[in-house]
Formats: sequence, structure tokens, C-alpha cells
Amino acid sequence: MSDLVVKRLPAESGTSGWEAISKRCFPVRTLDGDVSADWLVIGAGFAGLSAARRLSQLRPRDKIVLLEAGEIAKGTAGRNSGYMIDVPHNLSSGEYSVAGESATKAEIAQNRFAISFAADAAAEYGMSERTFDPSGKVNAAATVRGMRLNANYGRSLESIGEKHSLLDAREMREITGSSYYLGGLYTPGAVMIQPADYIRGFAAGLAPKIDLFEHSPVLRLERLGGSWKAKSRSGTVTAPKVILGVNGHIEDFGHFRGRLMHVFTYASMTAPFAGRSTGKDRWALLPADPMGATVRKISSDGSSRIVIRTRFTYDWAVQVGEKRLAGIAAEQRASLDARFPDLKDVPFEHVWAGRLCLSRNHVPAFGEIEEGLYSACCENGLGTVKSTLAGVMAADLATGTRSDMLDEFSDQPGPARLPPEPLAWLGVNAVIRLQELRAGREG
Ligand SMILES: Cc1cc2nc3c(=O)[nH]c(=O)nc-3n(C[C@H](O)[C@H](O)[C@H](O)COP(=O)(O)OP(=O)(O)OC[C@H]3O[C@@H](n4cnc5c(N)ncnc54)[C@H](O)[C@@H]3O)c2cc1C
Repeated sequence: MSDLVVKRLPAESGTSGWEAISKRCFPVRTLDGDVSADWLVIGAGFAGLSAARRLSQLRPRDKIVLLEAGEIAKGTAGRNSGYMIDVPHNLSSGEYSVAGESATKAEIAQNRFAISFAADAAAEYGMSERTFDPSGKVNAAATVRGMRLNANYGRSLESIGEKHSLLDAREMREITGSSYYLGGLYTPGAVMIQPADYIRGFAAGLAPKIDLFEHSPVLRLERLGGSWKAKSRSGTVTAPKVILGVNGHIEDFGHFRGRLMHVFTYASMTAPFAGRSTGKDRWALLPADPMGATVRKISSDGSSRIVIRTRFTYDWAVQVGEKRLAGIAAEQRASLDARFPDLKDVPFEHVWAGRLCLSRNHVPAFGEIEEGLYSACCENGLGTVKSTLAGVMAADLATGTRSDMLDEFSDQPGPARLPPEPLAWLGVNAVIRLQELRAGREG
């Protein structure tokens, strides 16, 4: 009989600006007592919430319980940059387009399937355009190398018939107000979310159909007489089928050990400002070199903010320290000032980090990993879309809902084994740092 004792719980580093400016409009409920359910979903990020929504569609009469260790939108799901990307973008490769034509097409189809699932939820749960904005995004280039990467990216999009347009330095200046960029490549299919509002709106919309308990970490998961029993601090949930949407924390449940890379990335959000040279009200830039800076402007009620994300570090810990956050925020300040000299006196109001989960061979940790226990984990850095898809696919797999999408998604190898530590730590950090240095002014 399986008895999984959860070794470590999530912990957050800094306060996400997205969460700080988002309003919560539903009460927090914590598990108190012993509950039986048809389904237990663990983790209320993109994967867990999407799995729960899909289960509620497929099995409307079943009782679905969702347990979250922390609070909705305070974890990684509410602290990302909010790019739901349809066209491939692979963090670990150092390039945007990595696969052959048919694999790229299949990946785009999967990403669009996930985005349309999210769009249906956004419409049903009444999310505004500020929360879920199908605006597309620009891959911005600040160097000759970035321009070359964009040109290559454009050619691969061309070869598979994907719409895109190239922007020159003047057009980039019109959008952003900055002379920093030499050019850009616009793709229309990306959706920009306010991640904390999206996750909160999703949870609030789903709440009437499920039992969501926050501050209710699963500390132990035990297989007893054909069911799983999850123990939290002041209660238990017993259910025949469980979906794990805990991303890298799946290792703490005893699965995929030595196969997952835990990588932090870092972000800062300015205080609100008005009347500066920062172009249009809203724009979203990804770096032409994936190791560069993601920069986004949002506006509401006459004031704007800019959010900048840079750097990746591979760490064993679940949290990074204040000193690291402050050091990277200082680098981000320099990157922002170089792009927007007019904002030099506008301070950062929020500085934070969040934890991604990558596998060496860029595949998810997906499938039925023990009888009645399903994994929708390891998002490979782009979980707004990938974890949404994994959550839906896990619900389909667990309910026996067959589809070509599920066959394709299930037909992937598992995450490859990493070299032993500290070799993995040394190797991954060295590769990341080299790629970041190569990104130069893109960062
Ligand atoms: C700064 C930053 C910028 C990013 N930008 C983007 C972006 O622009 N686009 C993009 O696609 N992705 C981006 N990401 C990545 C994205 O946020 C993640 O890929 C996504 O959140 C993963 O979703 P998930 O549901 O798999 O996992 P998570 O969002 O991590 O959710 C897992 C949940 O499981 C819970 N949990 C863990 N253990 C337990 C337990 N024992 N009991 C109960 N609950 C538990 C956690 O508290 C957590 O809420 C970014 C990340 C960061 C940090």
C-alpha cells in the first residue's frame, strides 16, 4: 500500500505585484473535518483549477474537492508575467522554435486548445479584458543577434503558415515609447492575462461546483482499500481518484525524483505612474532571445505600471533569500532605466520570484503514476498554457474520456534522469548563466 509523506511544502519569495494589485472577492475556506469525495485535486494553480473545471464538466454530479497548500493567486500561478503563448517557445533550448514542422504544428494545436479552454472559462466566469486580453505579443529585439533570432523565428512561422508581422525600430518606439529596440516580431495568437485576477476569477467562478479549501496542504497521501486518503492539518479527504497539480512539488510526493529541475525566475513591478514616455497604454514584449527580459506595461484608471522579468537560477530550495531578490531587482532596475530613462524616479513597488519546473527533455510529468493517482505536473516554464492543458488532459485520462489530443499528449516519454547532484546544479546553472550573458542587451 502506498503511503506518501509529503516532505516539503511550497513557500513564496517576495510579494507578487499582480497579487498585490488584485482584489479578492470570495472568502477563504479551510478544510476542517473528514470529507469523502469522488475526486480530489491537489494544487490550485493552472493545472489543478483546469483539472477541476474539466471534471465538473465531465461529471457534473460528482463531488470534487480541491486542496491548496497556500492561498489562491499567492503562489506561482499568481506571480507570472501572464503570457499565454500559442506559438512554441522553449526555455531550455535557448531558442524559440526547436522542433520540426509537424511537431511544431502539433504543439501549436495543443497550446491553442488550452487557450480556448481558458477563454471559455474567462467568458463563463465574466473576466474583463484587463484580466484576459487576446492582444497578441511582440518578440522585441535590442541587438543584431536578437534581430537575427527574430528573422529566423519569422521564417519558421512562415514555413508553417503562421501569421506574424515584423516591426521596425520606429514601430517599436510607437508602441513602447522607447528607442531601445531595433525591431520586433508580432504574433496575434497570444493572450495576456493579469495572472492573479485570472486565477482568482477562475477559482471564484468554479467555486459553486466544487469544494475548494485553501491553507489546507496535503501532508500525507495514503492508499487505503481502493481509495486515497489525503491528510491535511485539520482534516482528511478520501477519494478513489486524485489528480496532482502541484508542479515541481510532485517530487515531494515521492514521484519523478532526480528527473525535475527547479528553476526560479524573478520579477519587479514599478509603482504606478502617469504621463511618462512609455508609449501605448498596454503592451507586452517577450525578448527575442528567450534568456532576455520580458517587459510588460499595464494601465488602469489613468495610471500605468511596468513589470520586468529576468534571470533564471536552478536551486534545490523552495524559496530564495531577500539578498538574492534585492540583487536581481537592482539588475532589473538597470535594465528598465536603459529602456525608459524617463522612469528613473519611479521606484519598484514589488519584487518577487517564483519557481518553475523543467525536465531535461522538455516533457511533462504526466499520466497515471499509481492506481487512481494522476499527475499533471512539470510545465517546462510555460504553465499558463502547458499546465492548463495538462490539467484538462489529466481529467480526461482519469474519467476515461478518449480523444486524439489525449492520445497525443499521453504518447510522450517521461522526464529524463538528471545527472547526480551537485553535477546537475553546476551544469544547469553554468548553461543558464552562459545563455544569459550571451543575451547581453536583450536582458
Ligand atoms: C516571474 C514568473 C514569470 C512567469 N511568466 C510566465 C509567462 O509569462 N507565461 C507562462 O506560461 N508561464 C510563466 N511563468 C510560469 C508559470 O507561472 C507556471 O508555469 C505556472 O504557474 C505553473 O502552473 P501549475 O498549476 O503547474 O503550478 P503552480 O502554479 O505552481 O501551482 C501548483 C500549486 O500546488 C500547490 N501545492 C504544492 N504542494 C502542495 C501540497 N502538498 N498540498 C496542497 N497544495 C500544494 C501550490 O501551493 C501551488 O498553488 C512564470 C513564472 C514566474 C515565477
